[in-house]
Amino acid sequence: MSNHDRDPVLLTPGPLTTSLATKTAMLRDWGSWDAAFNAVTARVRRHLSEIIHAEETHVCVPLQGSGTFSVEAAINTLVPRDGHVLVLVNGAYGKRMAKLTQMMGRRASVFETADDVPTTPEDVDRLLTADRSITHVGLIHCETSTGIENPLQAIAATVARHGKSLIVDAMSSFGALPIDARTTPFDALIAASGKCIEGPPGMGFVFVRRSVLEKCEGRCTSLALDLYDQWVYMEKTTQWRFTPPTHVVIALDAALAQYRAEGGQPARLARYQANCKALLDGMRALGFASFLPAAIQAPIIVTFHAPADARYTFKAFYESVRDKGFVLYPGKLTQVETFRVGCIGAITATEIRHAVNAVADTLAEMGIRAVTPARAVA
Ligand SMILES: *Cc1c(COP(=O)(O)O)cnc(C)c1O
Repeated sequence: MSNHDRDPVLLTPGPLTTSLATKTAMLRDWGSWDAAFNAVTARVRRHLSEIIHAEETHVCVPLQGSGTFSVEAAINTLVPRDGHVLVLVNGAYGKRMAKLTQMMGRRASVFETADDVPTTPEDVDRLLTADRSITHVGLIHCETSTGIENPLQAIAATVARHGKSLIVDAMSSFGALPIDARTTPFDALIAASGKCIEGPPGMGFVFVRRSVLEKCEGRCTSLALDLYDQWVYMEKTTQWRFTPPTHVVIALDAALAQYRAEGGQPARLARYQANCKALLDGMRALGFASFLPAAIQAPIIVTFHAPADARYTFKAFYESVRDKGFVLYPGKLTQVETFRVGCIGAITATEIRHAVNAVADTLAEMGIRAVTPARAVA
């Protein structure tokens, strides 16, 4: 019998495992007109801004929906109809940003590097020098499709030097990796409730430079995704413009209280680094090789090469590990067979070590004795 009646540990980059305190915060109903609820919204916005020291320069605009809704809202609200966005791509989320930019009717140029090659500030400098028509640069901070970290600080400085506007998808890094709006120039930075803050999924938020957002009236081609309208309405009424995800907001508030109690961003990063190390050590001991070199691996999610053994299929592997209580994540690479394991969520290195044991037991059950990766890695 498997333990399906218990919640498995989610080793996935959102939704992820939340704490009991965060889950139980959702056991109440709130009216959207209620002053108490709207005070929570204001508090959540303030606490989110404090994490990246953006209170003086940027406004935090929350938005209903998954993270992609907020990426689309940021592009559609900030980029003028005749704007030109340079999207820096080294994985699926970069491709998604380029696609939605085009679908919003804005011009998009893509600069793509391989999945294991970060974009460099030199690349960005060259591209912005070569094409003066570019108005905005889109960057994925941690590209969750592999776990690669792109150099946000250096790229932001380069974009600012060229006088262009930077839009950062920091979905899977916000709250864990250090980001400081006082020293890292960006016009918009996007994240969501269900990643490193460890809330439930269902709400995104965009930090937009106030002086920029003030000029964005009427730019958005979508009613529901208009961050300018959402912001103005919220400032005027304290309420959300349309039905708020009340339970998500309340649980995010609880998750933020735990975040501060834990010690904020440095403590969150330290726990994820310990998780990542336990994962890499444990999996290497089983013979697995990770896809990325350590220097560009963010402690958020790790991509592993699948065993070359003919008995391996991700589906069977996944189901067996899940029946032992741990949910893995499929790979997102087209060239090599991989799977991913998240380091984030309300878990510690203890859960990670148990997960590695579950992987070891699964390999034995599948009759896979040697984990020779499909591609040799130094
Ligand atoms: C999770 C994530 C998103 C948003 O994905 P949704 O499925 O819409 O929540 C966007 N970018 C990155 C880098 C992510 O990790």
